[in-house]
Amino acid sequence: MAIEKTPLAAPLAMNGSAHLAELDASRLVVTLAKTLQPLPENPHFGEIKTDHMLMATYEPKTGWSAPEIKPYGPISLDPASSCFQYCPNVFEGMKAYRGPNGEPRLFRPKLNMERLARSAERVALPPFDTNAVLTLIKRLVAIDARWIPTKPGHSLYIRPTIIGTRAALGVAASDSAMLYVIMTPTGPYFNTANAKGIPLLAVGTTVRSWPGGTGGHKLGLNYAPGFLPQRLAAEQGYSQILWLLGDDHKITEAGAMNFFAVVARDDGDLDVVTPPLDGTILPGLTRLSCLALLDAHTARRTVLPGLRPALRLHTHERALTMPELAAWSAEGKLLEAFCVGTAVAVAPVGRIGWEGKDLVMPSEETGLGEVGKALLERVLDIQTGRVEWEGWSVVCEV
Ligand SMILES: *Cc1c(COP(=O)(O)O)cnc(C)c1O
Repeated sequence: MAIEKTPLAAPLAMNGSAHLAELDASRLVVTLAKTLQPLPENPHFGEIKTDHMLMATYEPKTGWSAPEIKPYGPISLDPASSCFQYCPNVFEGMKAYRGPNGEPRLFRPKLNMERLARSAERVALPPFDTNAVLTLIKRLVAIDARWIPTKPGHSLYIRPTIIGTRAALGVAASDSAMLYVIMTPTGPYFNTANAKGIPLLAVGTTVRSWPGGTGGHKLGLNYAPGFLPQRLAAEQGYSQILWLLGDDHKITEAGAMNFFAVVARDDGDLDVVTPPLDGTILPGLTRLSCLALLDAHTARRTVLPGLRPALRLHTHERALTMPELAAWSAEGKLLEAFCVGTAVAVAPVGRIGWEGKDLVMPSEETGLGEVGKALLERVLDIQTGRVEWEGWSVVCEV
């Protein structure tokens, strides 16, 4: 019996992967759903999916398949698949918004694609052409555009996902993969909308991320370990966890959102502080965008809504601890704390449970303070194309 050489031993594979197909948007095959679902009135986040999904698969011998847009439905996988065992699963969270003329728009989507590629690389999933995936997502959004809600504060959440599909139990990188994108209409993330501050429980006994860990990537495996602490926090009346790290109680993130504090300075200016991207913090697009908008206001390149043009906002990406926050709060210098992320945009923190006491924020009853409100309003204006800013909002052409 002839013994076949494995592809890995072949010189071609050693010289690179020129024979492997790239993820190629021009090979897209579209199969439209025969019947379309009725649009929901008040959808709960993530429960109702749109009519179509995008899918492509990767095999080690052939590379990426021709991508498909097809009716939403179940997928069939070998039970030994890597994704069920060792969790080489990564995802993104982005949204489509309606522009002034009803056109679908995405917010800085290239950054999502780059982050997805970095996440995939971190768990040794195959690389892909980020431009091709973005082209395909735009097409999917355009096809399901009727799902983008028109109500203010509502949008269409997009969940690009890549899972390892190697159907063998050996503990090894998944050399095959499935990329898919599903979408779900969504309203404001928290029931309390932005009316009242979110109560956070500061937790440092279980941690979300650690130096040298994976907290800086959007990997599925970062989230399940937070579910039990999250449930315990909810039983105590806190809606999210403020994840602490280290003996000095460094603040990292709140739930799956980046954290900001606004502090009064002696010279009348404001400090806006958020933890640095040291590998324990997820590099949020909303975080990055908020920092850029605050800097633009201070540089007088724009005036953020409701803020005095002369107000100087000094942004700091630096370590921030609970004792520091508590001291500012006691001195009356802590003006605002808020959380940012694609799902919430900007949401106020109401109080923070820490060491048996509650640190009550000025915004507990009133919602966002002036800085948080300015950011929320401006970010929403850019996302929905009411304000043009540095090409951040990208129209999905059909
Ligand atoms: C997705 C995510 C964020 C927010 O990132 P955005 O790009 O702003 O949506 C923050 N923290 C965690 C842990 C996340 O998973």
